[in-house]
Amino acid sequence: MNALLPTAVVGSLPKPSWLAEPEKLWSPWALQGDALVEGKQDALRAAVHEQGQRGIDIVSDGEQTRQHFVTTFIEHLSGVDFENRETVRIRNRYEASVPTVVGPVGREKPVFVEDAAFLRAQTDQPIKWALPGPMTMIDTLSDRYYKSRERLAWEFAGILNQEAKELEAAGVDVIQFDEPAFNVFFDEVRDWGMAALERAVEGLRAETVVHICYGYGIKANTDWKATLGPEWRQYEESFPLLQQSSIDIVSLESHNSRIPIEVIELIRGKKVMLGAIDVASHDIERPEEVAGTLRRALEFVDADKLIASSNCGMAPLPRDVALAKLSALSAGAAIVRSELTAALV
Ligand SMILES: [Zn+2]
Repeated sequence: MNALLPTAVVGSLPKPSWLAEPEKLWSPWALQGDALVEGKQDALRAAVHEQGQRGIDIVSDGEQTRQHFVTTFIEHLSGVDFENRETVRIRNRYEASVPTVVGPVGREKPVFVEDAAFLRAQTDQPIKWALPGPMTMIDTLSDRYYKSRERLAWEFAGILNQEAKELEAAGVDVIQFDEPAFNVFFDEVRDWGMAALERAVEGLRAETVVHICYGYGIKANTDWKATLGPEWRQYEESFPLLQQSSIDIVSLESHNSRIPIEVIELIRGKKVMLGAIDVASHDIERPEEVAGTLRRALEFVDADKLIASSNCGMAPLPRDVALAKLSALSAGAAIVRSELTAALV
């Protein structure tokens, strides 16, 4: 484990082709019943092994046990009808068939806690577990019961807090909340989104991360990015609020983006998990490119607060590409780490 400039994966890694169809979101499982349970565990073991081999310090499950980062969590809740699906526009960008809230939402049993305990048993490295954030959850379903995005987000925040506390008890060191919706619904972030996120992390001793990005490297997202102009300033809306929040780490996209790197100044004092790997391109970054991205960030964040990561999840990438990108991430971080260490001597 590198204490200085540790590396981490934001969330998903590609699944093996024997478990689910590759390069596809919401890819259906290729196994069933007990074989599926065993297959998920084997894939998780492989994900941990690959991260270890490729020098990833803060290890995650690569989301091998879930079909999707939001819907798999929602599937386990009561009050949500998965038969009765509706088509909605996600983050005002692309259409998807989503479940409907038809009654009070509740978590009748833990969702990911067993999987997290399994991950804990596979490695002595610090482990990180990702959950969807409350605002991103409500944006990934249809609601016919609460009829208020704010009320439903508040309910989800309470449920996420229960789950997060049990993940912490299972030995998870870092708990991440994925809130790509924070880059879209700025008024709601101010009005209740931040409060809901604070509710989700209330009382946690584990380190907490919020991951805010421009999405997976799928066409709907790259098309959207093309409309955002020469400078992407969306983070300027949420970062001042996050700087004042109790969240420990902010995860943002950077490499190959049009995000002005100085936005990091707005979260001064927080740890920064910086995206130094592009998940929208199959080109493998050169270690020196990764190092360049990290060096630029170091003008705005103290070296002991910087974590190197990918821009977003890698589920839609070919498996060999994603794994090569992990190696590039580690190699790039190692270059900057040795420069920083040399400067200290
Ligand atoms: Zn992301």
